Amino acid sequence: TDKPFVMPAPHPKERRVIFENISKEGYDASIDTYLAHGGYESLKKAITMQPSAIIDQVKASNLRGRGGAGFPCGTKWSFIKYDDGKPHYIVVNGDESEPGTFKDRYILHFDPHQLIEGLVISAFATNTRLCYIYIRCEFPEAARIVWNAIKEARARGFVGQNILGSGFDCDIYVHQGAAAYICGEETSLLESLEGKRPYPRIKPPYFPAVLGLYMKPTIVNNVETICHVKHIIRMGPEEYAKMGTPGDGGTRTMCVSGDVMKPGFYELPAGAVTLGELIFDICGGLKPGRKLKAVIPGGSSAKVMRADEVYKIKVKGADGQMVDKEVPMLDVVMDAASLASVGTMVGSGGVMVMDDSRDMVWALNNLNQFYAHESCGQCTPCREGSLWMKKITTRMMDGGGRAADPAELKSVADNIAGRTVCAFGEACSWPTQSFLAKFPEEFDKVATSGTPVPVPH
Ligand code: NAD
Repeated sequence: TDKPFVMPAPHPKERRVIFENISKEGYDASIDTYLAHGGYESLKKAITMQPSAIIDQVKASNLRGRGGAGFPCGTKWSFIKYDDGKPHYIVVNGDESEPGTFKDRYILHFDPHQLIEGLVISAFATNTRLCYIYIRCEFPEAARIVWNAIKEARARGFVGQNILGSGFDCDIYVHQGAAAYICGEETSLLESLEGKRPYPRIKPPYFPAVLGLYMKPTIVNNVETICHVKHIIRMGPEEYAKMGTPGDGGTRTMCVSGDVMKPGFYELPAGAVTLGELIFDICGGLKPGRKLKAVIPGGSSAKVMRADEVYKIKVKGADGQMVDKEVPMLDVVMDAASLASVGTMVGSGGVMVMDDSRDMVWALNNLNQFYAHESCGQCTPCREGSLWMKKITTRMMDGGGRAADPAELKSVADNIAGRTVCAFGEACSWPTQSFLAKFPEEFDKVATSGTPVPVPH
């Protein structure tokens, strides 16, 4: 994987910032290649700035976290008190495991120095001397590549003691996970890093910014989020923010999978395209003869959208006031605010497209299998409920449906959400709640038909 990777030419609507260099022919993960492409110039600039000015720039850029929750990055950083006399930590969340999301692994494999540069700038801004990059165990090659990149960066004075002669010291370590989805949840990740069983902590009080790694102030940011920092410094926050929408600055990477002709990941200005443009224009549309049925727009826990449904969005009226407008699903814009306004989310950018060949009970059962397997088991509603939902949808798939199954599924899901320590409870109940709400006729049919649902190949 450390061989050059060939990305297809960008679609005219794409704007590659994070993936600009990776797209170039012959670009590889070495520090010499990175330096030949302007690498570490943002760090040289940042290290001459006031740390608070860097945080102000990140705030002004409107950068939102790219891990899924979309929390404003500059605000998260400003929770850390620069001179509180405590050790601070930055932990990069490279545990990318959300079904349908596959962008961070390309950065880790093919542009590790972009991450290291963003990380050292972030550390300088927040007075952090020790950073960890937590990489999921299924990416062993990524861990090797990133370790090697850290070694190269240390040898050139970009990491370690007295960085670029500034007097600032900062070290970076890679930590490999052990194959549990829950470790992507930031507080379980910290438990795992501390060598413990990765049970999530209760937030509050354990917001990492206050009580994080070893109970010290800690920033946990996604891989892509940290990479954006170098570009904010390079371009200036105004130019960076301008690429996106007022509440969602910069570019967003959309990972598109499922029933489209050209699945893959696409870096686009935030809010620049609608779902329809993404699917039909950028991803080449559906397979011949197929009709669009459903889309999960932001990773498996984002609520499913139904293609033939009308959605209410906010648009600017003639008098400049925001008014409601009803639009088809394909006209919903792919940004954080628009997707939230129609009851779902842009999340980690994992767009899963399903055509009319897909059975919705099959699709939900697939997700239920995943969540039942990955529940950490700490909270009873999640541990028991995710398994219970999986058992019901599996039985329905096998032709053993009962008329009461849809109502029972809903009842179980409703009793998980809001009753667990971490967001996994919502993540595993939202698919069931939304699939039942959007496709009730399919669930009723399978529940009463007594025939198995064919498994697609
Ligand atoms: P969250 O909304 O609880 O938190 C988001 C971030 O903001 C966290 O870092 C949190 O510490 C911080 N924060 C929020 N309020 C704060 C406060 N008052 N004080 C200090 N810090 C505060 O969401 P979450 O549980 O971290 O993440 C859930 C999301 O993760 C889901 O929406 C899902 O899309 C995503 N996810 C992504 C992956 C992936 O592989 N990328 C995997 C699983 C889930």
